[in-house]
Amino acid sequence: MFLIDSWKYMMKELLASRFVELHEIDEKEVVQRGAWKIVSLDVPHQNGLAYRLEVKGKIFVYSGDMGYVSAFADFSKGADVVAIECSYPDKKSVRGTHLCPEDVGKIAKIGMWKRIVLTHLYPVCEGKENDMIATLQKFTKAEILVGYDYLSFRI
Ligand SMILES: [Zn+2]
Repeated sequence: MFLIDSWKYMMKELLASRFVELHEIDEKEVVQRGAWKIVSLDVPHQNGLAYRLEVKGKIFVYSGDMGYVSAFADFSKGADVVAIECSYPDKKSVRGTHLCPEDVGKIAKIGMWKRIVLTHLYPVCEGKENDMIATLQKFTKAEILVGYDYLSFRI
């Protein structure tokens, strides 16, 4: 098992083990804890991972940094909420392994998500959020929000 350096630091300096239990999971391994079911998916990006959490019939999917991958659509199928990175405002701006509204839209269309929270917006997106949402709305009828710190909602 591979423990990341920051976890070692948290264990030693912050005594994190008093509050948190670390359990690394392999892709497609299903972890069940009480009513919670968690599955992960490797996504294109250095150390890229996405998580699907299910509890009482509700589905929340979270992507870290990622590039376009159609497998994410099946992974997130029918999600009530998908928090997904959308680093760039349009296709021509994309640098590296990241997403833009067109890419998110293609996946959202297949995934049939109910609500989308765009995260990881780079500064180049500032002032373009409404255009990004408008682009995404061409692909999906899902409710679309731009994420911000401490955003919360009931599923
Ligand atoms: Zn990145």
